[in-house]
Amino acid sequence: MNVHDSQWLGRALATRGFTEASLEEAQVVVVNTCSVREKPEQKVISALGRIRQVTGGNPGVLVGVAGCVAQQLGEAFFAKEKQVRLVAGSDGISGAPAAIERLLEDPGLRLSLLDFTSHYVEREAGPETSAVPSGPVAYINIMQGCDNFCAYCIVPFTRGRQKSRSSTAILEECQAVLDKGAREISLLGQNVNAFGQDKSGDGTSFAQLLRQVAALPGLERLRYVTPHPKDMGPEDVAAFAELPQLCPRLHLPLQAGSDAVLKSMRRRYDSEAFLRLVENLRNARPDLALSTDLIVGFPGETEEDFQATLHMMRACDFMSSFSFIYSDRPGARAALFPDKVPADIAQDRLLRLQALQDELGARWLADRKEAHEQTTLLLEGPSPKIGEGQEPSWQGRDPYGVPVHVPLPAGTDHTGRLVQARITEAKKHSLMAIRTGEPW
Ligand code: SAH
Ligand code: SF4
Repeated sequence: MNVHDSQWLGRALATRGFTEASLEEAQVVVVNTCSVREKPEQKVISALGRIRQVTGGNPGVLVGVAGCVAQQLGEAFFAKEKQVRLVAGSDGISGAPAAIERLLEDPGLRLSLLDFTSHYVEREAGPETSAVPSGPVAYINIMQGCDNFCAYCIVPFTRGRQKSRSSTAILEECQAVLDKGAREISLLGQNVNAFGQDKSGDGTSFAQLLRQVAALPGLERLRYVTPHPKDMGPEDVAAFAELPQLCPRLHLPLQAGSDAVLKSMRRRYDSEAFLRLVENLRNARPDLALSTDLIVGFPGETEEDFQATLHMMRACDFMSSFSFIYSDRPGARAALFPDKVPADIAQDRLLRLQALQDELGARWLADRKEAHEQTTLLLEGPSPKIGEGQEPSWQGRDPYGVPVHVPLPAGTDHTGRLVQARITEAKKHSLMAIRTGEPW
C-alpha cells in the first residue's frame, strides 16, 4: 500500500511537470513511511540524516515526510530536522502535490497535513489523467484505514477508520489503467471483504465489486489483498468458482495457529473456522494456492501455542508466508500485555517457522515441475540475470504470482504480453519454463 502511495505521488508530481531526479540533484525529496513494525522512527530519522548529508543541508531542497510515521510524530519532525517543511499523514498525502507547489513558491512556509477525513477522498491526477503509461500490473486502492483493532496493530491509529471508495470511482480508474495497457489489476485495502460496510461506502459489497471489475473489457487477471478471514463470506468464496479472471492465489493472513493466541490478538476467528474457510475455498477452486502472514512471540505465546502455528501451516499447505517477530506498537493494546516473549526465544521460533515454510514452498514448486505444468505467464521484463551465450530470457508471473523465467526471441519488447509455457525447473523461489506458444 505504501509503494502504491509513493507511485501515486510520483505520478501526481509528474503530471505537474516534475521529473524524477537523483538525491544529489533533487529539488524535492519525500520520504514515505510505514510504522507497522520495528523501529520505524529511527529509520526515518536516519534517512533524513542521509538526505541532509547528501544535499549538504541546503535549505533550497524541500524535504517532506509522508505516511504513517508522519501521522504519528506530526510536527515534531519540524523540530528534529530543519530541512523538513512538509509532514503529510495517511489522508494528508492526497494534498501533498499541491502543498509541495505552494512550499516551493514560499520558502518561509512549513505545512502539516495531519487531519483524518471522514469519507474517502478521491486523489487528484490519478493515472487516468497522468501522462505516465501503466505497466502490465496495476494496483487500485478500494478503501483506506481499518476498524478491526487487532491487539498488536497500529494501522487503525495511523491510517484511521475504514473508509470505502465509491465503486464508480474504482471502476473508472480500473478501466483507465486497462485502456493504458494494464492486463492485471490488484485491488488494495486493509480488510477488503469489509468493503462498502462503512458510512463512506455506496452500498456495493466486495463480492459485487469483484464481479464488476472482472467484467471490464481487457482485464486478464484479478487479485486482491488483504482479506480478513472473519469477513470472507460465501459470496467471496463463490467468486473463486465463478470468475475465471480471479487468480487461483489468495493471501489469507492467519497470524497464529493457537486459539488462545488468536483470541488475545482479537482476530475473531479460531483455527477451526480458518480450516473450514480454507476447505470451502479449495472446494470452490481446487487449484487455489494460499499464502499468509504469521507473527511469532506474541505476548503469552507458549511453545505449545507456537507448535499450533506450525501445525496450521502444514494443514493449510501455505505456498509462502511473511513472518514477523511480534513488536510493541504505541497505542496498540498488546503493548500493555504482560508475558512478553524473550527476544532469543522469539528469534528461534521465527527461524523454525521459516525453515518449515521453505520446505512447504520448495515442495509446492517441485510438484509443479514434476507435473510439467502448463501455465500462462504475464511478461514483466527481461530476466535480471542472463548467462553468456544464453538465449534472452524474460521474467513473467504465473497465475500464482510466482516469478517464472522463459527464453523468448530477441529483438522484441514482450513486456505486458501473455505467453503459454511449460515448467521445466524449480528454483528456490522461482521457476524456469519453455514457451509452448506465441506471445500475445
Ligand atoms: N490488514 C492486513 C495487514 C496488516 S499489516 C491484515 O489484517 O492481515 C501486515 C502484517 O504485519 C500483519 O498481517 C501482521 O502479520 C504484521 N504485523 C502487524 N503488526 C505487527 C506487530 N506489532 N508486530 C509484528 N508483526 C506485525
Ligand atoms: Fe491491522 Fe488487524 Fe486491521 Fe489488519 S485487520 S490492518 S492486522 S487491525
